[in-house]
Amino acid sequence: MAWAYVWAVAVWALIPISKRGGKLFVPAILMLGVLPDIDLFFGNLGVVHHSFTHSIFFWLVIFAPVFAVYGLKSVPYLAAVVQHFAFGDLLVDKVMILWPFSSSYFGLNFGMPSILDVALETAGLLLAAGIIVFNGDLRRLLSVNKRNILMLLPFLALIASMLWFAVDWSLIPLIAYVWTRKSLTALVFDHLILAAFLAISGIQGLRALGRKHALTSKTP
Ligand SMILES: [Zn+2]
Repeated sequence: MAWAYVWAVAVWALIPISKRGGKLFVPAILMLGVLPDIDLFFGNLGVVHHSFTHSIFFWLVIFAPVFAVYGLKSVPYLAAVVQHFAFGDLLVDKVMILWPFSSSYFGLNFGMPSILDVALETAGLLLAAGIIVFNGDLRRLLSVNKRNILMLLPFLALIASMLWFAVDWSLIPLIAYVWTRKSLTALVFDHLILAAFLAISGIQGLRALGRKHALTSKTP
């Protein structure tokens, strides 16, 4: 999610100002950043993790109509989803990136967790944090605005991915396991920081709803 934001902002900055169409919609960027891993939930339907949802061509086809309607504005959103497997997964694992033209898995396979993985995830989080402060997104995402309710979607996706491993583990041994390896502890720490930020942003969105309700109930 952090890298999706970094890549999307970088691509957005390359688009001519007249074609950018305003600020990026951050909840969508964050969700797109993890969307390829939706294949995890379809394992019992025979969908193999890191297969077609991790293919560049699959997403090019999905985005073709979006591009036809929204033009260059849509490219940062495509970048958010493509970086998931063409950057992140390609470095730490192997993915079927050229499907349907090749069913081979490509990747540097550094491992997860590994030093490179922890370094990448932490660097992504720090970069995203730096950008979000300077481009004004932090102020918008922490303001009492009902748009921020949608930040609860990436929050839920993040929690779901963190608890994914709890399907085979009960929670207490899972939490204990996190402390057995420094790399895992660091990764969980990164995830908790991001989760806290998403939760606060979402709660600010809910507060906007509450305020609106309080205002309307006061009017006679
Ligand atoms: Zn993935």
